[in-house]
Amino acid sequence: MKLNIEGQVNVYYVQTLCMIFYPGEKFSEDSEITPNTPVLDLKVQESEDGYTVDAALTQGDKAASTQKIYHWRDDVDKDRLLKLALGDAILTICGEVCGYRPSWGMLTGVRPSKVATDLLKKGISKTRVKKILSSDYFVIPKKAALATDVALNEARLIASPQKKDCSVYIAIPFCPTRCAYCSFVSYTSKRLLSLIPEYLAKLCDEVKDVFACIDRLGLNVKTVYIGGGTPTILEPDQLRMLLSVIAESTDVANLEEYTLESGRPDTITAEKFAVAKQYGVTRVSVNPQILCDEVLQGIGRAHNSEQFYQAFELARQAEFKVINTDLIAGLPGDKFSTFAASFDRILALHPENITVHTFCVKKSAEILQKDSKIYDIRGGDTGKCVDYSQIKSMHEGYKPYYMYRQKNTVGNFENVGLATEGNEGLYNIYMMEEVHSIFAAGAGAVSKAVDYRPADGSKPFIKRFFNDKYPYEYLRNENGKQKLEEIERFYLERSLLD
Ligand code: SF4
Repeated sequence: MKLNIEGQVNVYYVQTLCMIFYPGEKFSEDSEITPNTPVLDLKVQESEDGYTVDAALTQGDKAASTQKIYHWRDDVDKDRLLKLALGDAILTICGEVCGYRPSWGMLTGVRPSKVATDLLKKGISKTRVKKILSSDYFVIPKKAALATDVALNEARLIASPQKKDCSVYIAIPFCPTRCAYCSFVSYTSKRLLSLIPEYLAKLCDEVKDVFACIDRLGLNVKTVYIGGGTPTILEPDQLRMLLSVIAESTDVANLEEYTLESGRPDTITAEKFAVAKQYGVTRVSVNPQILCDEVLQGIGRAHNSEQFYQAFELARQAEFKVINTDLIAGLPGDKFSTFAASFDRILALHPENITVHTFCVKKSAEILQKDSKIYDIRGGDTGKCVDYSQIKSMHEGYKPYYMYRQKNTVGNFENVGLATEGNEGLYNIYMMEEVHSIFAAGAGAVSKAVDYRPADGSKPFIKRFFNDKYPYEYLRNENGKQKLEEIERFYLERSLLD
């Protein structure tokens, strides 16, 4: 895509808006211009009254142009006003040329409920927030309602963040086989899986160090999340080794939530769940993705629907407080009828938590090598699937409490966590809303030190610390202790221990 911009504008923001309509587009000055290359001319002028944006787009034989005038407003600062004017102009012309109206309007960020959260914090009513999302940000009404509901539920769940609260994340980046759409760092080959014992030994040492650091700082651990990969790839004895280290390091009975992401039904056994239950795990996820064996096969998931039912039953028998099930809308080869039938069958099992993701293909996924046009902005049946999951689950007493978006999702739709009252996935919210520090252990894990309410009244301050990404590097290097020292320094420097 070619951009010709006149005036003081954040070019990256303009590119992000364009990518709502042209996902994956390159904006390099040197890229070759073909007759079908979209060309955007943008002129921004600031005057005593406000901003005037003139925009024109041509692509092949299609063309559109508009002028938007935004006057200064008391309720919106200068930067925000320019963003609104640019969003309005670009959505108008791109929408006309592409014949497409994005559900989320000009909201391009990871957390579409953030604008609603900010408005609610200013004391604006729920009804008015929905109206502002529709009128200023061009979010369609049902998504404006969803964003507002999520913002209200999140606000209830994180009502009073404490500076001494924290959570712990532990990474097991190994899986029995690789799904074709996977873009995570997860080792799956026989040779790499043979690293598990060595990895586990090192991980257990790091977990001990992490909890010792938390103790020195006098912090309260609210949640522990063991994620993957697929943590239940560990054999029962290996799982016991890890969980016993955690149980010796913190009072697991006092945690608000203790999650073992089990994910792949083909790794779950009664013995593994018995170990998890014995060591205090309260939440597991058992993920069917879709209850259709043909679609599962097509995406290279090495399990079938029957294995999901068996694994779910094992989770019920183990009496975990919360079972989460993940589903994906918009999988290749799936259609509305299959998704709706899968969703109904999941609802009939009454999991406390259901997370509905929209299919997302990152560049590194194997499936993209075979079909580079796997997603498009309209998303086929996917919007219907996403709507169905939200409407149907809300009728059954679930509430949306957590939402995020990713790049390159089919139809640009969202991922939503739905839960029955009191069964929300708290770690997910704490991590997404960055209300307290996350101490992360293992390969690829990212720790976040959070000063949520700086003493000088400024915005929350967050510093990230990255572990080595790949298990091989993680085993070779020693950066865990240094990371913890830096986090301790963060707490001291920002006087968070008083
Ligand atoms: S189970 Fe998850 S992490 Fe593992 S290969 Fe499949 S998508 Fe990737």
